[in-house]
Amino acid sequence: MISIEQALSLVKKHSLPTDRVTTLRLSEALGYVLAENMISPLSMPPFRQSAMDGYAIHLHPSPHYTLVGEVKAGDEKEPELKKGEAVRIFTGARVPQTANAIVMQEKVEVTSGSILLNTNVSPHDNIRPAGEQVSAGAIALQKGTRLNAAAIGFIASLGIETLNVYEKPSIAIVVTGNELVAPGEYLPPGKIYESNGVMLMVQLQQLGYHRPSIIKIIDDLTATIHSLREIIAQHDVVMISGGISVGDYDFVAKALNELQVEEVFYKVHQKPGKPLYFGKKHATLIFALPGNPAATLSCFYLYALPALEIRSGNTHFELTRTKASATEMFINKAGRPQFLKAIYRDGKVTILEGQNSSMLQTFALSNALVFIPETTENININDTVEVILLP
Ligand code: AMP
Ligand code: MG
Repeated sequence: MISIEQALSLVKKHSLPTDRVTTLRLSEALGYVLAENMISPLSMPPFRQSAMDGYAIHLHPSPHYTLVGEVKAGDEKEPELKKGEAVRIFTGARVPQTANAIVMQEKVEVTSGSILLNTNVSPHDNIRPAGEQVSAGAIALQKGTRLNAAAIGFIASLGIETLNVYEKPSIAIVVTGNELVAPGEYLPPGKIYESNGVMLMVQLQQLGYHRPSIIKIIDDLTATIHSLREIIAQHDVVMISGGISVGDYDFVAKALNELQVEEVFYKVHQKPGKPLYFGKKHATLIFALPGNPAATLSCFYLYALPALEIRSGNTHFELTRTKASATEMFINKAGRPQFLKAIYRDGKVTILEGQNSSMLQTFALSNALVFIPETTENININDTVEVILLP
């Protein structure tokens, strides 16, 4: 059995960015990761820009300026200002070369044909220099950047329409168990409704991944080998839920072994999620997550998600970790490091009741996991604890 740190570092070591790159239109690129540094074709802003509605002035010692024209956003004109002259100007407009400051209109008294400044003005005031954000030829966004709405907007502002990104991985979710019945169907005695498949699917979609395939397998060795062979061959990442523990009807480990999947690790010293498995077959990454729904989801966030992010090209991915003060006492009886479902807010964290790995109700209320090291026996009110924010 390995430690959490060893498991995470093995996940990172064995998860490599895909070598499949695709060219997309900007409007389709949300959630993809840049496969190359994006070099800016122009300076941004492309010209000296007014940051205010007001007056562009050619500074001189007196507060009086003569008005000689107007420049609005989008105008190409370039009025020439002598010392002591001003033009009316608006936010986003090109600042005349001969102007050296902008005065906001609220700081100016206007009389016919001239203005009087009510404020001290220094050179460059309220002028956005050309290339203030990025200059032509510089790196606008680094390779490995995951594209959010702001990145898409920024790239649009550089006039770029198509870009090279890593392909998103094809993902399979495999749910195992004779007891599983699809929601909406009749529930015979002894059966339960299947929840892990849809839970992982919607989380993946919310995180920007392609919709995964969901495949159900019964608890049978031959069926498990048969299905997994095909699924592994057809996907970049396979996430199996259940059947990975030590019960007589847990066939996943045996099947993966039979299929010559290279085991990277099996079993992690943690709670929940001890029977976590990670392996590889050629370039396909295979996670077998413990079937208990809360354990499935914890292990997904902590181990499978970093692998998916790296595979997608986002090699610097880390879950956000922070410190917070505990609002309640907690006694750690696990004898293992624990991840506890919790609500984090404003630097404080509340560890919730109902931590059993079969319980999703608690997880539904959580926005964080509290990490408790094995050596911590008690958490007292106001103790500082480590918090992992859920994405
Ligand atoms: P296993 O890891 O297969 O031994 O499953 C552990 C527990 O999780 C059992 O109570 C299973 O019934 C339950 N479980 C496994 N897979 C699912 C699933 N897809 N949805 C809901 N519960 C599950
Ligand atoms: Mg099972």
